[in-house]
Amino acid sequence: MAWEVGGVRITRVVEHVMPFPADFFAEAQASDIAAEPWLVPDFVDNVGRYLISFHTFVVESDGLRIVVDTCTGNSKDRPMIPAFDHQHRPFLTDLAEAGFAPETIDVVVCTHLHVDHVGWNTRLIDGVWAPTFANARYLFGAADLGYWQQSADPLHAPAFRDSVQPVIDAGIVDVVTADTELTSEVRLNLTPGHTPGHLTVSIGNGCIITGDVLHHPIQCGHPEWTASGDVDPDAARTTRQAFLEAAVRTNALVLGTHFAGTSAGRIYPAAGGYRFVPEDGG
Ligand SMILES: [Zn+2]
Repeated sequence: MAWEVGGVRITRVVEHVMPFPADFFAEAQASDIAAEPWLVPDFVDNVGRYLISFHTFVVESDGLRIVVDTCTGNSKDRPMIPAFDHQHRPFLTDLAEAGFAPETIDVVVCTHLHVDHVGWNTRLIDGVWAPTFANARYLFGAADLGYWQQSADPLHAPAFRDSVQPVIDAGIVDVVTADTELTSEVRLNLTPGHTPGHLTVSIGNGCIITGDVLHHPIQCGHPEWTASGDVDPDAARTTRQAFLEAAVRTNALVLGTHFAGTSAGRIYPAAGGYRFVPEDGG
């Protein structure tokens, strides 16, 4: 799946898709899912579970190859989530077959430092966690780095140790402290709430990568819902509202970091919130 936006090409490479129960959003009821049958089969499975995709977007602009988010990774010790634990998925082969061998990547952006956005930052080589994208600079939100460095969270602290600290130790990390232009058409925007240093990615004036400001298309209709893992739910709601308003105002192509199906669509105003209308890629 790929898209052209102005002079920028964006390619999606999927690591895996997995179902989550209705209470992934604290305020959601199973009846809220049943009320939107259009979500089946791309975004909800036939027993009413959200389908959450874990994928990378590779953004090509001004001669740079930018990987946005690195999924869950292989061989990681993640006993709390079996689908993340000691996996052996062909993600790097799929990435290379899409034309993106790891050594050709110039920049890696982690929208935030949760376990499912940092996994392929490193891979296990001779028993040591080494940077997967050895020729790249890795960009992390400064506030996320500070927050997760201190955290003892049983899911995310191990991910920091095996997927973030090794790239810091390699001296290839740059911290993002303000909205930043990566190329003439690609910008990082500080969008705190889900995590303190969360970043979204804007491409031209007409395309936005959500990060975890949104987790699922159903959330467009319920922007007040709290997603599992929101560090500051109130700030996340404020950021999500602003994101949705901007997406409507600019008629942006929205690329959902966890959206299954084609992962792409546009957002329109609707009673009580917004609605997501899926769109195909190229
Ligand atoms: Zn996530």
